[in-house]
This record gives sequence, C-alpha cells and structure tokens, in this order.
Amino acid sequence: MSLAKRNFTDQDIPSYDSFNTIRQVLREFVASIQDAMLVLDKNAKILSYNQPFTTFWNIPEDVKNSAGDVAMLNFVVGRMLDPLEFLHKVQAFAGSGKMQTQERIRLKDGRSILFNAAPILDADGKCYGQTWHFIDITKSKQAERDLLALTVALNRLSDAVYLRNKDYHFVYVNDAACQTMGYSREEFSKMTPIDIDPDLDMNTLKMIGEKHSSTGEHPTFQRRHRTRDGRIFPVEILISIIELDGEKYSLTVCRDISKRQAYEQELQRAANYDLITGLPNRRLLTDRLEQAIVRSKRNGKMLAVCYMDLDNFKPINDKYGHHIGDQLLSSLTHQLKTILREDDTLARPGGDEFVFLFNELGNAEKISTILDRLLAVVGSQRQLQNHMVNLSASIGVTLYPNDNVNADTLLRHADQAMYLAKEAGKNCYHFFDPDNDRHAQLHRLNFLLLQKAFENNEFILHYQPKVNLLNGTVVGAEALIRWQHPERGILPPSEFLPYLDNTDLEIQVGEWVIDSVLKQAEIWKAAGLTLTVSANISPTHLLTNDFAKRLQETLERYPCLTPDTLELEILESVALSDMSQAVNTLKSCRNLGVRISLDDFGTGYSSLTYLRNLPVDILKIDKSFVANMLTDQSDLDIIVSVVHLAKTFKREVIAEGVETLAQGVELVGLGCNVVQGYGISHPIPANQIHNWVSEWESRDVLKHPDMAKNAYLVQSNLNLV
Ligand code: C2E
Ligand code: MG
Ligand code: MG
Repeated sequence: MSLAKRNFTDQDIPSYDSFNTIRQVLREFVASIQDAMLVLDKNAKILSYNQPFTTFWNIPEDVKNSAGDVAMLNFVVGRMLDPLEFLHKVQAFAGSGKMQTQERIRLKDGRSILFNAAPILDADGKCYGQTWHFIDITKSKQAERDLLALTVALNRLSDAVYLRNKDYHFVYVNDAACQTMGYSREEFSKMTPIDIDPDLDMNTLKMIGEKHSSTGEHPTFQRRHRTRDGRIFPVEILISIIELDGEKYSLTVCRDISKRQAYEQELQRAANYDLITGLPNRRLLTDRLEQAIVRSKRNGKMLAVCYMDLDNFKPINDKYGHHIGDQLLSSLTHQLKTILREDDTLARPGGDEFVFLFNELGNAEKISTILDRLLAVVGSQRQLQNHMVNLSASIGVTLYPNDNVNADTLLRHADQAMYLAKEAGKNCYHFFDPDNDRHAQLHRLNFLLLQKAFENNEFILHYQPKVNLLNGTVVGAEALIRWQHPERGILPPSEFLPYLDNTDLEIQVGEWVIDSVLKQAEIWKAAGLTLTVSANISPTHLLTNDFAKRLQETLERYPCLTPDTLELEILESVALSDMSQAVNTLKSCRNLGVRISLDDFGTGYSSLTYLRNLPVDILKIDKSFVANMLTDQSDLDIIVSVVHLAKTFKREVIAEGVETLAQGVELVGLGCNVVQGYGISHPIPANQIHNWVSEWESRDVLKHPDMAKNAYLVQSNLNLV
C-alpha cells in the first residue's frame, strides 16, 4: 500500500496541533509498512524510513547515526549499478512534481529491484514530499526470463505442445499446435483434447487421464488428430503430468508421424512386397505361411501350399523384352486374384513363380477343383503386342498337416512337386507325397553314412572260392563287399549297396573294389597262390564312359599279374539299359585280356540274340535255380538249358549257391563242373584264403589215381552234406 495511491482531502487529514505530531504519525505509519520505505520532504530531506528499508539496503549503523539524511541517500544511490541514471530519474520525477513513477533498477550486488516513487499531495495538488518504495524482484525477474526462454523454445519446437488443466481445457498451446491444427490460441482456450482427436470421447479421455494421473513422464503412444479443416493424421503422444500451485496439469507433446509412418510403410512394402505385381514376396509369404500353419493347428482344417511356375515364360520374356514380360506378370496376377478367397494368399517369391496358400480346405478334392481353375486361367490365350501368346503352368502342391513340417519345408516340398509336374509334361499339377519323401530322406541319410564309412576305410572284401568238382581244383575266388560297421559288426551288401545306386560314390567304391582285388591277387601270387579273382561290377559303374580306360590304368599298376587274373561279374540286366554302350565297354575289357562273367544268369532277359551279342566268357547260373533244382523241374530245366546254351555259344558255365552234395552231384552230371557255394566255403576274409586252399588241395582224395567223373564227388570228404 502506498500513500501515493490516493489524494488526501481536507476531511482526510486530521488537524494536528503541531508538525511534530504529524511526523510522529508518519513514522508510525511508515514503520507499519512491510516493504522498504522512505519518506522525503519536498527538499529531499528524509522524514522517515522503516526497518525493512535499512535491512533492504543493509545500511551500516554509522551511516544511519552519523552521516544523517544526505549520507543515507548517498549510500543508497551508491549501491545502484548506474547511480547517475537513477539520479536523473529521480530529478525528472521531482521536476514533474506530481507524477508517480515506477522503475526497475539493477543494483551492484546483482539484485533487481522495483523502485516506486509517489508524491504526497495536498487537496490543491501541492507537493509536500515523496514516498519511496523498494521491492526486491530478483526472483520474479529470473522467473520472467526463464518463462520467456521457455516460451521461445516451445514456439520453436516442431512438435505441438498442449497444457491442459484438470477440467481438460487447454490453458497453453505452442505455435506448432496452432500452425498444425489451424486454431488460434484463443480458440484453443475453449477446446479440450476431444476437439482435436476424432477417436476420443469423454470416457476415454478420463481413462487416459486416470492412467496418467501420477506426476512424471509416461510412455509414448499413438493416436490420430484432426485439424480444423478436417485432415486426419497420426501423432505420437508423450504425456507428462505436472503440478502447479497444487493443481495437476497434463502437458502433452504431440509429434506428427505421418511422414515417418509413410516412410515405414514404404520400407515395409519394399521389404515384403514384390514391386512388379504388388504381391507378397517370399519373406512375407513365409510369415503368412507360418500364421496359416498355426491356424490350421487350431481349427484342424487343411492348408494347401501350391507352388506354380509358368512353363513358357522365359521365351516370351526374351522375345518381347522384360517390360512386356512384367506387364504379363501383373495382368496374370490380376486374373489369378479372382480365384482367391478372402483368406487365401497369392505371393510371388521370384521370377515366373507364384505361390498360393489356400486355408481351411474341407477336403483334398476341393483343391483339385481350384487347381483346375488355376490352370485354366493361366492357359487362357492373351494378347501381347498384337500377338496371341499361350501360357501354361506347372503346379506342385503339398497339404498340411498330412505333410507335417515347418513353413520353409512346406515350400520346398511344393517346389519339388512342381518339378515333378514339369517332368510329367507341364501344364498340370502334382501332389507331394510325404511318405516318399521320408523314404528319400532316409535314403539320403544312409548315403551320407556310407560316404563317411568309405572315407574311414570301413569297407572290406571277403572272398568265396570257386572250385571244379570234377578235378577238385580251386579255380578262383569271388570278392564280395562287406561293411565293417563300427557298432553293428559286419554288414552284407544288401544292407548298404542300394543306397549307393546311381551315385558317384558307387563308382568310387567300384574302383576301390577292382583295385583291392588286384592288390590281393598280387599278394597271393607273391605268396605262391595263383588265383583268378572276380569282382562284381555295378551297372552304373560299367556304363561310365571311361570304364575300360580306367580299368586298363588300374591293371597297369599290377604288372606282375596277367589281365586274365581278373574276372568281372556283371549282372545280366546291365546291358538292357544301354546295349551298345555295354557291348562296347565289355569288348574293350576283353581286349585288355580281362574275362567277363554274366552273373545271376537266368533271372533276366536271357534271349539268344542277346547272348550272342554280349561279349562274355562265363555264364553264372543264379543260385535261386540251384536252390530248387532237385525239387522243381522247371528250375532244373533252366539249368539244363543254360548249360546247353553255354556249350552252343562256347561259354564256360558256373553254378553259384551250391549248398549240398546232391546239388553238386546233379550239376556235375549235367555238365556244370565249376561251382561255388556255402557247401564249398562261405565267403571268408582274404587272409584265410591261402590256408583254405592248402587244406582243400591237400585232401587225399585229390591224389586218387582213378579220379573220375562223380567218383571224386562221391568219395570226397568235402563240406557237402
Ligand atoms: P552275387 O554276386 O550273385 O553273389 C553271390 C551272393 O550269394 C553273395 O551274397 C554270397 O555270399 C551269396 N552266396 C554264396 N554262396 C551261397 C549259398 O550257398 N547259398 C546262399 N543262399 N547264398 C550264397 P552277398 O555277399 O550278400 O552279395 C550279394 C550281392 O551283392 C552279390 O550277388 C552281388 O550282386 C552284390 N555284391 C557283392 N559284392 C559286391 C561288390 O563288391 N560290388 C558290387 N557292385 N556288388 C557286389
Ligand atoms: Mg557275383
Ligand atoms: Mg550271383
């Protein structure tokens, strides 16, 4: 409160007896004022000051007591940052006489003060003196500056900032809020967040308010805002609850994320969609397939994965150019989409390939109907640059959960089936068979195991002697492969050779067999045992282009052996696949001096023309005929004819699988003297052969002078039972 706030009238001023009394009243009045206050007479002589004044200026006692009024004023003025300016202001004020003044002044000690000076006037407007007030405004000045800086900063933000009170009304918005939303500050002051958020109602607003009721910053979330002219755009919102003078306010920073979202969507598109057709690419397809699998698991319905490849797209692309090719792909996409139901997916993993996912199929027949329609759509004639072109497609299909594998494998299976559709003549579809595949996988696994086994030298050869029953001589030995399995022991060829069929490894193993057999013959020869050795040759191996050449190279590595030490046992069926190649190779082998035996004879083609053309030296009667020759007339008849055939074509003959004395006697009687079989010896390791031969040849019966047909057999004490 200041005396200068009002003018005194005669009634206001009591009539005091003396000037001193007035002074006394004035002093008391000034003392009761809480601001630093000073009263001066019109001659600038201090009439009164209060305690806050001395504290405010920190006036030392000696100045107060000794120097008097002038010293006190000087002291005050001397504390001003700019004393002269202050004095000018005071003089100007005094000159004006009646004017009231208010100045902000900086003091040397850094404080900002508000200096209020007011004249004391009588009823006629005559000036008696002045009151001076000093108020420290350092803090409020700082706050003012802070506020200014904050406001500038807020207005420079590109994010919109809103401050709303507990009644949900905006009490502050920054420039960006006004600019983006198109409302003035005044308009905003009458609005709530509901007015700018099209998805917000009072309940939701309250819910959000409650959720964010505690002070501090809360996680960002996304909403949509609507501008004054109706444009709706996505925003990311950060809400902080702040407390001002005991009241909570919600401070919201909103970032327009439409550009970011568009950019993200663009990235998303580029990462998941094919540019030419706009269809999902392989990545998104795999995602969708994974979801479809989950769905099928949940609802128990079947899912079909169809891999479609255009049959004749490449020539079209080459002829008309990629641009036209691309056009064709997108127009085809358009047509293919017409077949899809809402939940199905059509994707383009690349090139001229498309993948369909058909969800929730009732039964497998349904998919056939869909596939027929697909082929019809692709097959419809279309025009390309004034030319009519025909397209067709091959489709591979696999059905989940019959084919109970993961997304990637389902795609691979459908792809495999598609290749089978191509092989089947194109423009058709083929269903993947999970059972076949499991078999193929097992086959592959076994093959890999064999590959390892070969690298680890786990294959060995056993030898089965071949003997002439008429004169008792050992004529040779057949090498038979075994797998010395580290855990399962010795395995026969039937357990592993099938996994080598038609592989490179089959050829490598075959070469190893020939080489090992020759090496063994060399060892035996060096030990004084000359034996013809036979090796079984697989059809794939025999039909390799350079079989004879490589055989020659192998033979050359064993110069101490004559080539007729080696006999090749080939299957009768081998020549059937490529007769001329087989004939040529066998001729070359014979030219090298190697002998050829036709194994398992009688089980295959066995035609006369065939036999005449095939350059073989020995016919080997299959053990199945020998096994039943004594009980089955037709088997016996076959043996009789084979022996005749051999005679006619001047071939040697040998019977395998001879197990009993009776079989041996019968065979010799029929003119087949050379035999092999368990009755003579089982196949045995190479290092036992030498002993076996010595034992065999040392039998007394061999030295019998009357050794004649059958007599030897009858008298012999062979293994035959
Ligand atoms: P194969 O060449 O006809 O060989 C005769 C098979 O009959 C051998 O079976 C032999 O152990 C068996 N055997 C011998 N005497 C008797 C007998 O008195 N009774 C009966 N029931 N069987 C007898 P193994 O060793 O299991 O060989 C089976 C087939 O595997 C061979 O038939 C041959 O085709 C093939 N094989 C064996 N070793 C090789 C090889 O090194 N390379 C190739 N490519 N095939 C081989
Ligand atoms: Mg054989
Ligand atoms: Mg055989």
